[in-house]
Amino acid sequence: MANWEVNKFGGASVKDAKRLMNVAFLMEKFPAEKRMIVVSAMGKTTNALEEVLKTFLDGDDHYLELFEQVRQYHLMVAEQLFQKNDTVFHKIHALFDQTLSFMQHVPVHHNDYIYDQVAVLGELASSRILSDFLNARGIHNQWLDARRIITTNNDYRSAKVDLRLSQKNLQKALEKYSYSCFVTQGFIGGSEEGISTTLGREGSDYSAALFANMLQANKLTFWKDVDGIWSKDPNTFEDAVQLPEVSFREAVEFTFFGAKVLHSKTIQPLVDRDIELHVRSFLSPEKEGSKIVQTKEIDAEEIPSTMETLTDNIIVTQLETKDYSYISLASLKEILEQFDRLGIKVLQVSRSATTLTLVHQNVDKLSKKHWMKSFLDEHNMCQSKLGNLVSHINTQSISGKPLPFANFNVHYEGGSIKFRQEVKF
Ligand code: ASP
Ligand code: MG
Repeated sequence: MANWEVNKFGGASVKDAKRLMNVAFLMEKFPAEKRMIVVSAMGKTTNALEEVLKTFLDGDDHYLELFEQVRQYHLMVAEQLFQKNDTVFHKIHALFDQTLSFMQHVPVHHNDYIYDQVAVLGELASSRILSDFLNARGIHNQWLDARRIITTNNDYRSAKVDLRLSQKNLQKALEKYSYSCFVTQGFIGGSEEGISTTLGREGSDYSAALFANMLQANKLTFWKDVDGIWSKDPNTFEDAVQLPEVSFREAVEFTFFGAKVLHSKTIQPLVDRDIELHVRSFLSPEKEGSKIVQTKEIDAEEIPSTMETLTDNIIVTQLETKDYSYISLASLKEILEQFDRLGIKVLQVSRSATTLTLVHQNVDKLSKKHWMKSFLDEHNMCQSKLGNLVSHINTQSISGKPLPFANFNVHYEGGSIKFRQEVKF
């Protein structure tokens, strides 16, 4: 299966008629021998459908009105792209009617199951409109139902993909249709029994990576509203530079430290087949954007492989043992597990004999200075290993001083709770 390119268009890139025309423009401007287009729901459609679901599950009939608003939006966009008598209108109505009928007749109330049956509508509708519009523009393509290709288990809302079965389905679909361009959906899949599933919010990137993997694509392109990957947030730092080439591992690091680059799940299917990922702007297609590769070709000296994030939602907690004992591995383990259970992301850990310094996400509602003490009280944990360490969040004492982390330069900006971090590779 040679010469495939996968193009992924996220919600913002297909949010209205103008953007859909832009997709057609991009596909004409950058022709490919064989192409799979993976598309998200239009704009904030998935959020709107979540509102419909919430209202519906609350037993509030207002859900109907919200549902019809979503339908009207899609029809309105289609009206700007197609002639009045185009068959696309029937297709849109059919998708919305099926979903509505499902909600009106659903016998069991298993919320996650219902969620998936309704949420798939966003991607099904956007991909129908895009596929028909591209065909009308002369970009001949076949619409593919990703629910018949991406086979998953029944973990509704975060279904796990069976890549082997999915690959077989895709192979069959490609043998059936002699097209060189296909339009399909991100985010959605189906169980072996043919029930709709979803892969988790923001899952379209992952879907696109799976398609790229199965097609052994030459490259995968994410069309975004940013020029590519930046060393720092360009809205905050004047000296931010766009990185022409980044390794997969760097991309994962950037993502972990707060850059909204990629979902970490996206990377593995690409690494497995050594597929290049291009991140570029659908608004400025003349710019090449950033390339994410397994091994960087460009001399590391030429590009600053550092990344800075500045966030006000990070705090530094310093703990020291009450009795001057060493910090044991057992207490370190317990503390980290405790943070994990609380869902608090720990970014960095540094340990000396009697002190432990943690850089972590801020904890809502707890006062910054005493959050650990109140936390221990609240959970009756004063006698635990964690309780044996005294909370010691003295911002003054670390203000302005770089903290001693091996791969990181951490500058704590005293006074405010701003925390700047550079990741060096
Ligand atoms: N439409 C889905 C969402 O908004 C999937 C995606 O866009 O990646 O989460
Ligand atoms: Mg999205």
